[in-house]
Amino acid sequence: MSAPWPRRPRLVAGNWKMNRTAADGAALARELTALSAAGLPCAVALCPPFTALESVGAVLRGGATHLGAQNLHPESKGAFTGEVSGPMLAALGCRFVIVGHSERRHGMGEDDATVARKARAALRDGLTPIVCVGETLAEREADKTTEVLVRQVWAVYEGLGADSRRTVVAYEPVWAIGTGRVATPDQARDAHRVIRATLDRVVGDHAGEAIAILYGGSVTDKNAVALFAENEVDGALVGGASLEAASFWRICAAAR
Ligand code: PEP
Repeated sequence: MSAPWPRRPRLVAGNWKMNRTAADGAALARELTALSAAGLPCAVALCPPFTALESVGAVLRGGATHLGAQNLHPESKGAFTGEVSGPMLAALGCRFVIVGHSERRHGMGEDDATVARKARAALRDGLTPIVCVGETLAEREADKTTEVLVRQVWAVYEGLGADSRRTVVAYEPVWAIGTGRVATPDQARDAHRVIRATLDRVVGDHAGEAIAILYGGSVTDKNAVALFAENEVDGALVGGASLEAASFWRICAAAR
């Protein structure tokens, strides 16, 4: 079982999505490893596609950068063609797994209950889930951001108890993902406060103060400093800008 995460660690995680072959991924990881030779400015995780986990894991082995996956099946084994389970990811050296990414909620029909099952499966299998939540543009424009965030957080954390402290949340407004339209630091702060207050209510015991909340959605090396200056933002989940070693490294450095 993975150890509890320290209280609100600074974390920058790269979500490579469906990019990079095993060989290309290893090359990117090697570039990042070279840049971080003098040490990491914050906790860092790389989440390549399943097919590159082994090769990227081999590059990261023995270093401080964590390996993460982008998805898992809630069951640990069985007749689930095309799926990958938590024990399989753990055996490859994964520490993290992303659950509830909007591209899975909205593109693959994953509902709150499925995301909750996946988060529990990750914890059961010794992985730290990065639980993604966030509103669509239509929901924001209809003033439903708070309602959506409360519902999504509640679904995952209800009944999770002390295990909650082995999770990370990523606030990822759907309208900001891959669009170049980043949330303002104020928008991120307000959403993170809603998430923290919800964690306090659903988990109790000041859980909101202990759990890291990352911001994700068009983070670049240009806007990272302003986002990280906001006290509520504990780091970032980075998509596009994590595919280039120098830009990802500058984002990590900004989180110091
Ligand atoms: C993501 O996919 O989690 C993400 C934040 O993507 P991007 O940084 O490209 O918006």
